[in-house]
Amino acid sequence: MKEQYQQLQKILGERLRENELLARYTTFKIGGSADLFYEAKTVEELVAAVIASRKLGIPVWVLGGGSNILIGDKGVRGFVVKNSTSRIFLRGMRGTLKDGKARGNVYVEADSGVIMNKLVRFTVEEGLGGLEMHLGLPGTVGGAIYMNSKWTHPEGYVGDVVYQAEILTPKNERRVIPKTYFQFGYDVSSIQKTGDCVLRAVFSLRQGEKDTLWEAANAAIAYRKQTQPQGVFSPGCTFRNITKAQALAAATPGGTTSAGFLIDHTGLKGITVGRAQISPIHANFIINRGGARASDVLQLISRAKEQVKRQFGVILEEEIIRVGEF
Ligand SMILES: Cc1cc2nc3c(=O)[nH]c(=O)nc-3n(C[C@H](O)[C@H](O)[C@H](O)COP(=O)(O)OP(=O)(O)OC[C@H]3O[C@@H](n4cnc5c(N)ncnc54)[C@H](O)[C@@H]3O)c2cc1C
Repeated sequence: MKEQYQQLQKILGERLRENELLARYTTFKIGGSADLFYEAKTVEELVAAVIASRKLGIPVWVLGGGSNILIGDKGVRGFVVKNSTSRIFLRGMRGTLKDGKARGNVYVEADSGVIMNKLVRFTVEEGLGGLEMHLGLPGTVGGAIYMNSKWTHPEGYVGDVVYQAEILTPKNERRVIPKTYFQFGYDVSSIQKTGDCVLRAVFSLRQGEKDTLWEAANAAIAYRKQTQPQGVFSPGCTFRNITKAQALAAATPGGTTSAGFLIDHTGLKGITVGRAQISPIHANFIINRGGARASDVLQLISRAKEQVKRQFGVILEEEIIRVGEF
């Protein structure tokens, strides 16, 4: 592999780094080093880096904002491309002019590395509705599409407003695909299976009142502050919520589907392993109190799963994605 690494170095030049510690690129601040690391600043750089490594037979993994991952203590073998592409622009509109006001849909295009908060602020400021409830969602457009990231008050999924996207397929083809390709569901998109890399996406947004949209966006932030631990290192919710059918079968209190509620009910809130802790504020959040190891987190995950299984007969599924060697 050493030879292939050297060849990739020749292609990508000085910006290719070796043994780059990945913890700093994640919101959890946990994880070892990547053998090779490169930050792509444009879509063309992203495509070139991924294709070059594939052609050399080097395993490649695309990192977005690092806000939904747990990287192993032993790091990642092969090549990690940090997606820092950043363009956003208005693509056009479809609709009518009535009483001097435009009504209809406006299409906004964003590179997959665009920070979601930046995109939300941009769209709200332009008076475009559809993404405002996602203010406060960490991570990038690519990660949000991969996860079909969601908000619950009011309910909304990032995938709801995706119109089309450009992807790089595992066969290195660039394709423009419609929303239906993604088969969005709860925490699900087809690219989790296909291995496509999202390069850019077009969102279809409705025209609205800027002030009303800001109100909704700020309400989402206020709700986050009320319910989620603030200023801590974490990857957000550790587990997916259970389905209504599971909640019914397990006779959860009040029929709740909330994984956090179930963990809380087992009395695990606040417990620690090493420097990792199940948040005393929100039991579905595991936090790094500084210097936690991935192995500490895995122990907390196992304990939460075991206790919830014992008390409710339900097997919790992880929402966070494990990457690399543990
Ligand atoms: C404080 C906090 C609050 C959160 N709140 C929410 C919330 O309200 N709702 C919610 O759903 N989630 C939430 N999350 C989880 C997380 O922010 C989302 O899942 C986010 O969309 C992940 O995006 P990312 O860019 O950080 O992805 P990463 O963590 O970098 O990667 C996640 C996965 O996406 C893949 N990926 C990234 N970019 C691309 C791409 N361009 N093409 C293909 N695959 C790609 C990666 O390879 C990886 O498998 C929260 C996290 C934190 C820390």
